[in-house]
Amino acid sequence: MRHFDAIIIGTGQAGPPLAARFAGAGKTVAIIERHKFGGTCVNTGCVPTKTLVASAYAIHLARRGAEFGFAIDDMRVDIQRVKARKDAASARSSKGVEEWLRGTANCTVIQGHARFQSSNTVVVNDEVLQADKIFINVGARASVPEMPGIHDVPFLNNSSMMNIDFLPEHFIIVGGSYIGLEFAQIYRRFGSEVTIVEMGPRLIGREDEDVSQAVREILEAEGIHIRLNAKCISLANRNDSVAVGLTCEEGPPEVVGSHVLLAVGRTPNTSDLGLDRAGVATDHRGYIIVDDQLQTNMPGIWALGDCNGRGAFTHTSYNDYEIVADNLFNADHRRVSDRILAYALYIDPPLGRCGMTDAEVRKTGRRALAVKYPMSRVSRAYEKSETQGFIKVCVDAETKQILSAAIFGVGGDEVIHVLLDVMYAKAPYTVIQRAMHIHPTVAEYLPTVLSKLEPFV
Ligand SMILES: Cc1cc2nc3c(=O)[nH]c(=O)nc-3n(C[C@H](O)[C@H](O)[C@H](O)COP(=O)(O)OP(=O)(O)OC[C@H]3O[C@@H](n4cnc5c(N)ncnc54)[C@H](O)[C@@H]3O)c2cc1C
Repeated sequence: MRHFDAIIIGTGQAGPPLAARFAGAGKTVAIIERHKFGGTCVNTGCVPTKTLVASAYAIHLARRGAEFGFAIDDMRVDIQRVKARKDAASARSSKGVEEWLRGTANCTVIQGHARFQSSNTVVVNDEVLQADKIFINVGARASVPEMPGIHDVPFLNNSSMMNIDFLPEHFIIVGGSYIGLEFAQIYRRFGSEVTIVEMGPRLIGREDEDVSQAVREILEAEGIHIRLNAKCISLANRNDSVAVGLTCEEGPPEVVGSHVLLAVGRTPNTSDLGLDRAGVATDHRGYIIVDDQLQTNMPGIWALGDCNGRGAFTHTSYNDYEIVADNLFNADHRRVSDRILAYALYIDPPLGRCGMTDAEVRKTGRRALAVKYPMSRVSRAYEKSETQGFIKVCVDAETKQILSAAIFGVGGDEVIHVLLDVMYAKAPYTVIQRAMHIHPTVAEYLPTVLSKLEPFV
């Protein structure tokens, strides 16, 4: 049996920096990976999808060439080159993670599937490893819901999508949330016919209604079909095509396409970890239960990243690493509850979000002020001919602190950080109005936007 100071299972967004932190402190650490280094974000998530988003954006702009004053004769999308570019981005990141870990002194890299044997031992490739501290960073995978026909019809998920080197003729995307919408716009811009099938009454049901509506309008304007209220989704083969049954409130009861992508949620990779042998508790969906500092119910075992259900983003997983490392190494008692919800939806234009939703603000019962400002009045957006969307901010009427913001428009994923950082500083929104901003930017409009706050209803 080999002994280490720490064992880390999984090389997602939290495991590698934590391994480097232990190793840098002179501790021995083993990090175990069963598949590709870097996990979901690097191989089947953020990196490849944002690379595809960039290709789709370039193609979209090229099609609008006349607006900008140029013409391209015979424009053709080369999906294989698009894929090669995406593959190169993932490979570069994955290799970077692997080389970093292998080149770190005190860090032992092991490839294989890890399972707990007890609360302080893990088995990998028939070898038993022991440590007093074990960190689980095993991530999540695409859920496969038990819908009629699911076992009869081939379907794609975010992982198998990575192998596509052709243009689906008619892509049916089941799931109108973040992952589904990004793929929908990407493939529509590549040239596929695209239909989004969503069970709920609106897209991205977690967002404010006006955000959902604006997203819908923008996607429909690009020719994407959207079928909402698809309460009973089923799959069936139809000659060489796939039929997706909807039982919608409006429109035909099924849609027939060439390929189906399922983007209907994520399932934590916790069922094959031997958690019962370690005594680690999970909730009914398989997420590992952790406290505010990410410790499981078993002393000496922590869970970080998507598998703990406390976040579903690269930045939440990385922040989990920071919380654990600061607690262990810096006596800085950081907690998950200190962080402010923030994320982006990478359709074009992007949606940058932070803080509460309108419904959550209302629920607190506090007096608030709010503003919604169209991107069409932002000169930077006008200069770029990208005037879709709006900026929304809500602040506490008493403290003047920012409660929430949605920047749905060009640069929204970046500009949102101006507001987010002020929220972390617990400063009033008025500090933004005292700052001199750079012209011409979207951010320079924030003082103007904030000068138009009115009572929130
Ligand atoms: C299509 C898509 C797009 C996304 N886009 C974004 C985005 O733009 N921005 C964003 O913030 N987030 C995005 N995400 C989410 C983001 O990818 C994840 O939140 C992020 O990767 C965090 O993952 P993690 O650290 O929990 O673990 P993961 O990255 O999932 O890594 C877990 C690792 O553990 C390994 N593993 C699992 N079980 C074992 C075992 N028993 N033994 C050994 N190894 C094991 C796995 O092979 C994997 O490598 C996206 C996700 C998807 C699917």
